[in-house]
Amino acid sequence: MKFGFDIDDTLIDLRAHAFALYNKKLGKNVGLEVFHALQRVEIHEPFGLTDAEGAAMWNSSLEEIYFTDCPSFERALETLQDLAQQGHDIYYITSRPKQYCEQTQAWMKAQGFPITEGHFFCGMQDTEKVAIIKELALDVYVDDKPAVLETLQDVNTKVILKNQSYNKHVELPRLNHWQDFLGLVNN
Ligand SMILES: [Mg+2]
Repeated sequence: MKFGFDIDDTLIDLRAHAFALYNKKLGKNVGLEVFHALQRVEIHEPFGLTDAEGAAMWNSSLEEIYFTDCPSFERALETLQDLAQQGHDIYYITSRPKQYCEQTQAWMKAQGFPITEGHFFCGMQDTEKVAIIKELALDVYVDDKPAVLETLQDVNTKVILKNQSYNKHVELPRLNHWQDFLGLVNN
């Protein structure tokens, strides 16, 4: 089968990692319960930042957010390794900015994610993912972001939603824990 995955907040816990970095950088101690209650993808509000300040903070921290020790979600790495070992095709579709694509692929490889030449798509807009998903004729695709999921309503691909606090309103098969992935795929 052909499996496609978003990376940030689907396979790896990027926002939580960034949230911890913000606490450190800003000398704050905003609790994780605040993080888990966020109703939007952006994380700056609990730090008292405006949207403009939040965007500036995010962009200036990007390298540190992306390429330090962001953990993957429990069992995500092993799940993809198992799929690859079973002969399935694994694709990554991430809208990280173009200038970080090469380094992102190297970082993912260093974490142990199975990456086949030509199976790593990066640097598109959220709304451009759908064309790639259709072109690849993926059997399954997993993402967390409502703005992406909204574009995937008429695809033949089985779309699975990685559960996050900001996507509770989206009605799709919901992946709460990666150990449940195969159960959702085969359901
Ligand atoms: Mg994502």
